[in-house]
Amino acid sequence: MVKETGYYDVLGVKPDASDSELKKAYRKLALKFHPDKNPDGAEQFKQISQAYEVLSDEKKRQIYDQGGEEALQGGGGGGEGFHNPFDVFDMFFGGGGRGARGERRVKPTVHNLRVTLDVMYKGCTKKLKISRTANCKQCEGRGGTEGTAKSCSDCQGRGIKIRMIRMGPMVQQMQSHCDSCNGEGSYFDHKDRCKKCFGKKQCKEEEIIEVAIAPGSRDGEKFVFEGKGDEVAGISKPGDFVVVLDEVEHERFVRKGDNLIIQHNIELSEALCGFVRTITTLDGRSIFYRVLPGEVIAHGDVKVIHNEGMPMRRAPSDRGDLLVQFDVKFPDKINPDAAKKLADLLPGKREEIIDEDADVVELTELDPRASRRQFDREEFEGHGFGGHGHGPGGGVQCQQQ
Ligand SMILES: [Zn+2]
Ligand SMILES: [Zn+2]
Repeated sequence: MVKETGYYDVLGVKPDASDSELKKAYRKLALKFHPDKNPDGAEQFKQISQAYEVLSDEKKRQIYDQGGEEALQGGGGGGEGFHNPFDVFDMFFGGGGRGARGERRVKPTVHNLRVTLDVMYKGCTKKLKISRTANCKQCEGRGGTEGTAKSCSDCQGRGIKIRMIRMGPMVQQMQSHCDSCNGEGSYFDHKDRCKKCFGKKQCKEEEIIEVAIAPGSRDGEKFVFEGKGDEVAGISKPGDFVVVLDEVEHERFVRKGDNLIIQHNIELSEALCGFVRTITTLDGRSIFYRVLPGEVIAHGDVKVIHNEGMPMRRAPSDRGDLLVQFDVKFPDKINPDAAKKLADLLPGKREEIIDEDADVVELTELDPRASRRQFDREEFEGHGFGGHGHGPGGGVQCQQQ
């Protein structure tokens, strides 16, 4: 049992989430709320980063689970406070910050690429049009003809203006950006100004990059295009462009590592007497399996079709397994004559010995609303009282626990 769930709630995961679930949740939310993409996301971005910083560190997570946020602040491993949320982001996505020899580096541009499971199965090369800020080639980043820059008289070439503000007996110095020269300290006359960047020294550049998605690629896989990110004046190396694969949920298959899970709904008669089902694989092949008369499939059973899962990343000719999870649909009612015949045919009849004094009681339908008072929600759903089967994945997960 964990003491608090606040950090887990921020990331939208359960307290027993695995490392990969935490990573996935952080990645999705960090990209969504990164202030570059979402100007109102700063506070959420900070919270997400703090939560991830704690939960991704085995030691800190343990302290948090046992004693909550208070324990972390108490110096037990988290006393040094939190990192800058952007550092956490850079650490996660790679790049940014400072290089090995301490030189400044440009933050990478991170792009989330939505990819269907079919594409991850077969592999494909996706062309991506990217846009980056680059130093203007025409004026070599000067902003105008060489040697024609004029010093700004409004700020004496400093790029900032200093104002004195008197507050009672105190005089305060206020620095502000010089609007006349845009903080550059110098400017070009109209005729000398670069016609391509209009004196801004930088331009937007577009380029097509190719992302080679290999068969068996995984959600969260990163592709780093070195030097394809933004250029920043004064930093010699441009930033990197990082593409992160984001797996789109499939309507029929659920992926678990190299394995795939499919849910098959079958009738009770099929469960008892055998049946055939076809499956269209992610690469478009048609396969089928048979359950022969005499074999019985129970509700919730999971069967394995070997080598029909996802291609293995290292050896794409090898594949994981396809797990078929069965949901048996029971009829609402059957004809009493049929029931008698079935009772004769099916095994497992037993004689119930009824005490002479026993009272007969009635079985009625369960009213889910009324019963919610008696069962807490989790227990209620856990026992399947709703009558609806669990979705794909859910049942299998339960069995693994
Ligand atoms: Zn100025
Ligand atoms: Zn230019």
